[in-house]
Amino acid sequence: MFEQIAQSIPYQYISIDGINISIKRLDLVHPHISGNKFFKLKYNLLAARQQGYKKLLTFGGAYSNHIAATAYAAQLFGFESLGIIRGEELASKPLNTTLNTAQQFGMQLQFVTREAYRQKQSPTYLAQLQQDYPDYYMIPEGGTNPLAIQGCSEILSDTDRENYDLICCAVGTGGTIAGLIEASHSQQHLLGFSTLKGDFLSRELEQLTEKRNWQITDQYCCGGYAKTTPELLQFIRTFEQQYDFPLEQIYTGKMLLGLTDLIQQGTFPKDHRILVIHSGGLQARLATL
Ligand SMILES: *Cc1c(COP(=O)(O)O)cnc(C)c1O
Repeated sequence: MFEQIAQSIPYQYISIDGINISIKRLDLVHPHISGNKFFKLKYNLLAARQQGYKKLLTFGGAYSNHIAATAYAAQLFGFESLGIIRGEELASKPLNTTLNTAQQFGMQLQFVTREAYRQKQSPTYLAQLQQDYPDYYMIPEGGTNPLAIQGCSEILSDTDRENYDLICCAVGTGGTIAGLIEASHSQQHLLGFSTLKGDFLSRELEQLTEKRNWQITDQYCCGGYAKTTPELLQFIRTFEQQYDFPLEQIYTGKMLLGLTDLIQQGTFPKDHRILVIHSGGLQARLATL
């Protein structure tokens, strides 16, 4: 199923202030394993199956598209799944759409305190988990690991490599942009719009790739992960009406807010060939937008 879908990704063509932009609509790849998560999961699921695992374990926040996508993919591939979710207080509240979706798809949710969650990459914590859940294949937060990066390198086609000067994407953990960088031509530049505040992502990304034809900005993160501003929400409403495709407030809305601002500042030449990766995530789109 992975091969068939990757080949049929549609593009949409728009123009912002006279600059032509192609949007690669990964949001249309699959109704539930949407966008970049499809590519991040591909080789992980294949590896889990090949290694004989029957269960998957992963991590995420309450708004994690990765959690929702993994739950669905696990069910589709016949795995049981367990999601370790940040925020103990959530256990006693009604589930939001993302977590409810995950549960509907059979994921078992385990809520942990923010302190415990922060340990998720520490060797001691991981060793303990491995001991508690020996028969689970572990996928890190946001699904980012070398197999995910390999999967994301397949987002770019040969023509994408030839036809564009600039490739833009939204950044969370950096796995997607790392795959795009790996696949890119050395003459191409990648610009990542971070949804998180701070420049630690650039340092992390330097560890994930040796190439340097990229840049990450947090200038349009609107305060940080899952935070919004009235300006962002208004931008999304106007943009959706004008260009007739959906965005959401966590990733793709911030990316296009940023790209539009850079274009309006005259950052790029008029004949710059820009490719925007629409990474999906629409299951988390605010109903009130
Ligand atoms: C998860 C997600 C991202 C971030 O991907 P990373 O590989 O973690 O950087 C971007 N856009 C959407 C819609 C996502 O769901």
